[in-house]
Amino acid sequence: MHPATRRALYRRLRSANPQPRSELEYSSPFELLVAVMLSAHTTDKSVNAATRKLFPLADTPQAMLALGVDGVKPYLRPVGLHNAKSRNLIGLCRQLVQHHGGEVPSQRAALEALPGVGRKTASIILNIVFGENEIAVDTHIFRVANRTGLAPGKTPLAVEQALVAGTPEEFKRDAHHWLLLHGRYVCTARAPACAKCIIADLCEYPDKTTAAPSKKEPRSRGASRPGPRTRNRRPAAG
Ligand code: SF4
Repeated sequence: MHPATRRALYRRLRSANPQPRSELEYSSPFELLVAVMLSAHTTDKSVNAATRKLFPLADTPQAMLALGVDGVKPYLRPVGLHNAKSRNLIGLCRQLVQHHGGEVPSQRAALEALPGVGRKTASIILNIVFGENEIAVDTHIFRVANRTGLAPGKTPLAVEQALVAGTPEEFKRDAHHWLLLHGRYVCTARAPACAKCIIADLCEYPDKTTAAPSKKEPRSRGASRPGPRTRNRRPAAG
């Protein structure tokens, strides 16, 4: 994608949402860290359903540690993989208390050393909590970056590196949220809403969809070209 097009694309997303925010509910860096860690392989809605009950009971690593694995497990049922996530949560709290004075560390290596915390979670914390220009790549951002031509790559890391290299400084802080929300609500995996997409004229995706056919007018056989999903690369696990 031409740098001028990339800039125009970000400008468009910024105009529509000047101050993008995470949809995870939190009121401290610790709560954000826990919420992002729990969001692996599930939705923000499920995480919020769990943390709305858990955080009032334990909003510090010390309080969470006191609940123990068996104490947090019932609250984590909505997020799936609750056995592993309960162990990770308590392990994470133990490390925060023992090695970081109960605070969320500001170094990537220290974050990634915490149980259940990988590169994506660390990037989100560095971006939101510490104001660093990190662009965490999740499945939505991977899809949008590849479809639009903004930052093509075969792996999340390759896309992240392309985004960091190609995103103008003024947009880096919020790029993660703009692209995530665009992927979640407009450029969805199965049926991108190209007809109402505000960056459609800038997007280089060759299989843009038109308005959804009405139920009374099923698609003709002649319209059976491969759908967007078959042309969309998917990220490697992790
Ligand atoms: S035009 Fe379609 S494929 Fe391109 S970003 Fe918009 S929704 Fe996604």
